Amino acid sequence: MSSLELYSPTDLNDALRFLEHDGKNAAVIASGTDLLPRMRRRQISPSILVDISSFTEDLRYIRQSDGTIRLGALTTVTDLLETPMFYGKLSIIREAATLFGAPQVRNVATVGGNICSAASSEDMIPVFMALDAKLKLASARGERTVPLKDFVVGKRQTAMKPVEILTEVSFSPPQGHSWTAYEKLGRRNMLILAMVNEALSLALEDDLQTIHSARLALNRVSGKIPALAVKTSNFLEGKRVTDQTIAEAQKVLASELSLTSDFRGSGEYRTEVAQVYLRRLVERCTRQIGGPS
Ligand SMILES: Cc1cc2nc3c(=O)[nH]c(=O)nc-3n(C[C@H](O)[C@H](O)[C@H](O)COP(=O)(O)OP(=O)(O)OC[C@H]3O[C@@H](n4cnc5c(N)ncnc54)[C@H](O)[C@@H]3O)c2cc1C
Repeated sequence: MSSLELYSPTDLNDALRFLEHDGKNAAVIASGTDLLPRMRRRQISPSILVDISSFTEDLRYIRQSDGTIRLGALTTVTDLLETPMFYGKLSIIREAATLFGAPQVRNVATVGGNICSAASSEDMIPVFMALDAKLKLASARGERTVPLKDFVVGKRQTAMKPVEILTEVSFSPPQGHSWTAYEKLGRRNMLILAMVNEALSLALEDDLQTIHSARLALNRVSGKIPALAVKTSNFLEGKRVTDQTIAEAQKVLASELSLTSDFRGSGEYRTEVAQVYLRRLVERCTRQIGGPS
């Protein structure tokens, strides 16, 4: 049987130094709600867990300054629900947090852990992709910033190096005539791992008829990787919001998606649901902005 050690660093710098020098086959653990079940299923077998869960003073915060909202990586899903900031144009975050797991999971599950798990069932990745979020990655050698859209590079694979820790997620709140919305389908109403989840950030021109910008993200665009639906987003931009535009965008989305089947649902079914959700998201955002309904 292979052995497992736990390293409890004194602070973030200690954790980063440890990863740099002794981190071979180590895994960072925040609350463990994703990591521990995967270890139990023997999907991964780290030999050392580097526990960052006590760094709440440094990594658990929600701040807004200079037009940017910043979330520390240890911010929990419950923290998101308790923040008045995530009503109105940013209610996409509240919607996703509400549909997330059950209260026991929401109380501990961290935003950083959700993003770093890079799973196609995670709620927060499409939401923050639609918001064009950026990630701050720290290592013993310094910090770098990576757009979330470039972070997930494969199934359960990220652009993060083994010596790095995600410290912060940041984004600019949507401006102008804009709104955001989220839809999720699972096989039951609680503790749902998403079969399809879809997030949209939409802005209209001053005429409230024409789409100024659209960012549509799904938990799967091709295979099992959360990503932006770039073609569909580009197609929507500059178009008037009409029934025909949405119907055409649904076709573009179907051509852009290349979804596989698994025990949760077939690729065909997922594609149909994604098309229905696209219509719902565009209509919901447009209605909230005060555009054509
Ligand atoms: C019963 C149950 C229900 C769930 N329901 C949902 C749901 O509805 N929606 C959903 O999206 N997820 C759900 N999950 C999955 C899980 O709870 C989330 O992904 C959660 O956000 C993970 O956070 P964590 O702090 O527990 O991460 P951990 O399990 O500690 O870590 C997850 C991964 O990220 C890495 N990691 C964590 N933090 C960092 C960091 N700061 N820097 C670098 N790497 C890091 C770890 O090494 C690991 O690979 C559920 C899980 C359970 C057990």
